[in-house]
Amino acid sequence: MFQDRELIRIYGHEGMGHALNNVVTGNNDLPYFLSESSPLTTATEESVAQFFQERLFEDLRNAPEVQRELDIEHKFERIYQEAEDIKKLKEFWLRQKHYGIVVLGNKRLGDPTDPSVITKKIELLNEVMLQGETARYFIEQHRHNFDSEGNLDRGVVGELVYCAQPVARAMKIFSGRGIKYDSGEERTLIDRTLLRGFWTPEGFVDNARVVAENYSSRIPD
Ligand SMILES: [Zn+2]
Repeated sequence: MFQDRELIRIYGHEGMGHALNNVVTGNNDLPYFLSESSPLTTATEESVAQFFQERLFEDLRNAPEVQRELDIEHKFERIYQEAEDIKKLKEFWLRQKHYGIVVLGNKRLGDPTDPSVITKKIELLNEVMLQGETARYFIEQHRHNFDSEGNLDRGVVGELVYCAQPVARAMKIFSGRGIKYDSGEERTLIDRTLLRGFWTPEGFVDNARVVAENYSSRIPD
């Protein structure tokens, strides 16, 4: 079970996400700044890989004949359900972590080494943490990650780039223009847009907007 689910996840994430992103980008004669992966584009690349990872589970669910060929038909519903549960837990965990960073780095709460400030931060985090000691552990773990002016280390703050969720925002733009992922031609358009180029999150969303506008202006009413 675990192995099957992991294989599907890895295939979707690494194969349909990262590998295709590389191949489609490499074959498209894009300007240099869009064809090189960099720390600025990592958050988008992960968002794209995540999207295709989840798509693969959906696509397999809609394709019983493929499940049969893979000999996982009898257990697929359980695999799918587990993947869904893990996805929800990970989403929660990620939001919790991002909220933790925002609270941790909030200078308005006071001197980060002051015990009363630490207590205040723990209280704030405890309102949303699922496990009792997580907040204290998180705050203590980062005790020394501040500069002399009380600024949180930029490596930790940099994690907030994963809040950008460029694919989710791009998908909203497509559906707002009536472009649907479950119809053949439009799915191809969306897939190509998601996989072509290495973008910053803002650039990615903006590009999706341009593609969606161009496409919908082509359709006669
Ligand atoms: Zn990845």
